[in-house]
Amino acid sequence: MIPFLDLKKINAQYQIELKEACARVIDSGWYVLGKEVSEFETEFATYCETEHCLGVANGLDALVLILRAYIELGVMNKGDEVIVPSNTYIASILAISENGLVPILVEPDINTFNLDPKLIEQAITDKTKAILTVHLYGQVTDMDEINSIAKKHHLKVIEDCAQAHGALSIGNDGKAKKVGSLGDAAGFSFYPGKNLGALGDGGAVTTNDSELAATISALRNYGSHEKYKNLYKGINSRLDEIQAAMLRVKLKYLNCEINKRQDIATRYSAEINNPKIKLPVWHPDGSHVFHLYVIQTQSRDELKGYFSKNGIETAIHYPIPPHKQKAYSSMGDLEYPISESLHQNLLSLPIGPNMTEKDITDVIGIANKFLL
Ligand SMILES: *Cc1c(COP(=O)(O)O)cnc(C)c1O
Repeated sequence: MIPFLDLKKINAQYQIELKEACARVIDSGWYVLGKEVSEFETEFATYCETEHCLGVANGLDALVLILRAYIELGVMNKGDEVIVPSNTYIASILAISENGLVPILVEPDINTFNLDPKLIEQAITDKTKAILTVHLYGQVTDMDEINSIAKKHHLKVIEDCAQAHGALSIGNDGKAKKVGSLGDAAGFSFYPGKNLGALGDGGAVTTNDSELAATISALRNYGSHEKYKNLYKGINSRLDEIQAAMLRVKLKYLNCEINKRQDIATRYSAEINNPKIKLPVWHPDGSHVFHLYVIQTQSRDELKGYFSKNGIETAIHYPIPPHKQKAYSSMGDLEYPISESLHQNLLSLPIGPNMTEKDITDVIGIANKFLL
C-alpha cells in the first residue's frame, strides 16, 4: 500500500536528533516560553526573512491573533469585512468570524486554486479592512496583484501560510521572497501533517511590524506584556518548548523535503498523461512547495475508488465548501460555482517526501491506466 502521507516514516529519519532535543527540554526544567521557543522564533524569522516570529499554539490561533491584534490597535473594528478565498480550508474563515469580523468569500482561479485578483475589487466595500490570502496546497498567490489592490484601498494583507512554508514569490522585479514576508503579517501551522510539522500542535506569526508583534506577544500570554500586568484581555496560546525543540530539528531539513516534494510533482506532471485527469498548473520556480498535489477529474469518486483498489491512498481537500457547512448556514444561499465545482472534482495524490522512485512510478502507472 502507498499511504497518502507516512508521518511515522518521515519522523523516523530524524529520530536520533528529535530524541536528543526532547531530552534537552526534559533536562532543562523549563517547559513554556523558554529558550527553545525564542531560538526557534529567531531561526524561523531568519528562514522567512522577516523581523519577527512569534510561536503560538496552532495555525488557527496564529490567524486569530493577527486579526485580534489589529482590533486592539484600532486598525479594525468588529463588523468590518475581511476578504478570503471561497475554497480555503475552513480555519482561515473561522479566524475571521472568531473576532466578530465578517468573512467575504471571493472565488479562486480555477487553474491555480488561489484567490483570483480580478475578482477582489468588486468585493471591496467601505467596511473592508483586509485581504486574507491563502497559499493553498503550497502554491504562492499572485502577491504583486494583491498588494497593489490592498495599497489602493488601504487594506492589510494577511497571508495564511499553513500549507506553504518556504514557498517563493517571484515579484515583478524578478526578486524571490519567502512566504510569510509578502504581506503585513502571516500565520503558519505546524500541525504534524504540514510541510513543517511538529509532533503535536504548533503555529507561528511572522511580520515586519514591530507594534503588531508586541501586541501578539502579549495577547498570546493572557494579554500580559510584563508578568502580572495585563494590557489586553488576552488568551493562552503558546508554542510548547518541546514542540519548538522538535521544529528546530525539522526546520533544518525543510528545504530538502521541499525539493523532494517538487521532484515528485515534476515526475507526476511530466508522466501522468491520462485525458481523464487534469493536472495542476504550476511553475518550476519555487513558487509551489507541494503540500498537496491536487488533480481535477469529472469522475472523482470512481478514480478515488480505483486508486484505493490498486493500493494507493488518496485524499480530498476538501469535500464540502465552507459556505455549504452547517456552521456557516448563513452563507448557504450564496453562490460560489467555481469553488463548488472544485470541491466536486479535486483529488490529492500521495506526495510524502519519503516516497521512493518505485512508489512514484506506481502512482503514475496506475493513474495512466484509469479508463472509465
Ligand atoms: C491547517 C490549516 C490551518 C490551521 O492550522 P492548525 O494548526 O491546524 O490550527 C489554517 N489554514 C490552512 C489553510 C490550513 O491548511
